[in-house]
Amino acid sequence: MTLKIIVLIKQVPDIEKVRFDVETGRIDRSSAPAEINPFDLNALEAAAQIKEKVGGYIIALSMGPPQAVSSLKDAMARGADEAILLEDKKFAGADTWATSYTLAGAIKKIGEYDIILCGEKTVDGDTGQVGAEVAEQLSIPHVYYVSKIVDVSDKNIVVVSEMNDASYTIEATYPVLVSVTKDVNKPRLPTLKDKLRAMKSDVKVWHAADLEGIIDLNCVGYFGSPTNVHKVVIPQERFREGKIFRSVNEGLENILNVLVKKRLI
Ligand SMILES: Cc1cc2nc3c(=O)[nH]c(=O)nc-3n(C[C@H](O)[C@H](O)[C@H](O)COP(=O)(O)OP(=O)(O)OC[C@H]3O[C@@H](n4cnc5c(N)ncnc54)[C@H](O)[C@@H]3O)c2cc1C
Repeated sequence: MTLKIIVLIKQVPDIEKVRFDVETGRIDRSSAPAEINPFDLNALEAAAQIKEKVGGYIIALSMGPPQAVSSLKDAMARGADEAILLEDKKFAGADTWATSYTLAGAIKKIGEYDIILCGEKTVDGDTGQVGAEVAEQLSIPHVYYVSKIVDVSDKNIVVVSEMNDASYTIEATYPVLVSVTKDVNKPRLPTLKDKLRAMKSDVKVWHAADLEGIIDLNCVGYFGSPTNVHKVVIPQERFREGKIFRSVNEGLENILNVLVKKRLI
């Protein structure tokens, strides 16, 4: 049996370089190159390892702007057999609910599948909600914060999930959504041959009309989003303040005063 694995990939800006537009409260995506969300690289690597162990067919799925094709080609260089981009002006400005609703619609269109893999969170939105919401939309179980894949067969998967300072070893039958942490593996680098092969491969692009009849198109994008970010504020950095005392006694006296004032002694 060949497992059908769907990997959710989000294209994000290089977070080390990106600038934030304080006026609009939005990330200025033109200020930094785009790449696959680092946690999604772990999800892809997990899919590649499962495929190597038991056989599989990997579909990379992303919702994003036309430029996200480059990240999906990168995903194909890293082991995906097929890649689908959900791209439409109607999808833009989606909150996490509308994002997961649209992704779930595309997964329904894909049809049968065994495992959906995603990252625990993204480095830009950073909500960590989309994976679980996709599972809920599809009415399938999900296992979050997976740091280790212990075993995988054509019938079930055994994983270690890290939650609330505890490790849970969980066995799940298919279909299941698994969200992974950075500890799950070390993503491999694609070879030049893989990159060249991926460059020549086609990324399928599905527009809103392709999901007609599967999802309600009034529930996608900005207008379908139940939440709306009104304001984003970047907290001012607070630095430690140092004070210099010229004698030990003066220093001790001041420390004692501070501790008494704060009712710590
Ligand atoms: C113009 C604009 C307006 C926005 N407005 C709002 C708003 O009003 N309210 C609001 O709540 N949010 C808003 N957002 C943020 C938006 O909700 C998130 O970008 C998106 O829902 C993904 O959430 P996240 O990045 O927190 O993903 P997480 O939940 O942190 O991601 C977890 C995992 O889910 C998968 N995943 C996430 N996103 C995608 C994707 N697009 N395609 C494929 N897989 C994915 C990845 O595997 C990822 O590792 C806006 C974004 C934009 C660009």
